[in-house]
Amino acid sequence: MEIACLDLEGVLIPEIWINFAERTGIDELRATTRDIPDYDVLMTQRLKILEQHKLGLPDIQEVINGMGPLEGAREFLDWLRERFQVVILSDTFYEFAAPLMAQLGHPTLLCHKLEVNDQGYVTNYHIRQKDPKRQAVLAFKGLYYRVIAAGDSYNDTSMLGEADRGILFRPPQNVIDEFPQYPVATDYEAFREAFRTASVRDIQP
Ligand SMILES: [Mg+2]
Repeated sequence: MEIACLDLEGVLIPEIWINFAERTGIDELRATTRDIPDYDVLMTQRLKILEQHKLGLPDIQEVINGMGPLEGAREFLDWLRERFQVVILSDTFYEFAAPLMAQLGHPTLLCHKLEVNDQGYVTNYHIRQKDPKRQAVLAFKGLYYRVIAAGDSYNDTSMLGEADRGILFRPPQNVIDEFPQYPVATDYEAFREAFRTASVRDIQP
């Protein structure tokens, strides 16, 4: 049996924090782990900024709902789900991803969780586990699934390394240079072809 593990942001949907910063005009929310390497510090700062701007979860979800999936993502995912068991492995939070998961037909998603108070403000966050994408792949392998994993950036490379086959989708050049062992797809048609090639089965186009 084969299972496809897909990253979410940059593969099926836009980068949530960057897009959220653009849509709300809150520049401080553009900061990523490149600017603030300590994830705890970064997330605490993000939550504080959301509260300062009086943005509760319903407001945040409304903005995220307006982003929509990447063009062609829904069709690609439907194609993939007809041919593979698909699980999405992401470092986002269920509450942020929810509006976009609805637009993608509610595929299975393993990610992190937020804590929200009675006023709707996000007060805390809970990371599912350490190195969660790789751990999920390990677990599926423990169930004797053959795993094909695909993602776009650094936080996917431990998952790609653990999988039986890895695919990069629209990665930045430094990831291509550092991980030349993975095929690169830059559009969904090439992505479908990469899954067909990675499979041990005869996958219909
Ligand atoms: Mg990504």
